[in-house]
Amino acid sequence: MAENRGPVQLPDQVKDAVVEEYLRGDKIDLIQMDHQFSPGSLYRILHEREIPLRTFMVWVPDRDWLMLGSPKRCRHIGGSPKTHCPNLSSWGFPRSNGVWAYCREHMYGRRIRNGIVEMAVHPESPSAQRGYVER
Ligand SMILES: [Zn+2]
Repeated sequence: MAENRGPVQLPDQVKDAVVEEYLRGDKIDLIQMDHQFSPGSLYRILHEREIPLRTFMVWVPDRDWLMLGSPKRCRHIGGSPKTHCPNLSSWGFPRSNGVWAYCREHMYGRRIRNGIVEMAVHPESPSAQRGYVER
């Protein structure tokens, strides 16, 4: 196994082409088919060239989040020493003991578009297939 972890033995011009194709957004499986190598080889070339991996996420509505009638204090408590976030938020989600509001800084990767809270999910995830996130 260890012998399979070393640098990929391909001419530099092939590696250059692979990196160029990857960076311009070509599909992984097409790059692999064109050059007839394994997924592992592709990723080892990218690693060797210090190319950051592409991530494709899709935004879907997070249907638990609601716009509040009036802003509430963000519930986030953190830092050292622990302090309560001073921000107000117009967004929150219902829990058994009321609506929990969080400011944009503490919405953890969510964004607001056209009055809807959205979350980035992997394109092959169930949420992406359904078109929304639901707890
Ligand atoms: Zn906050």
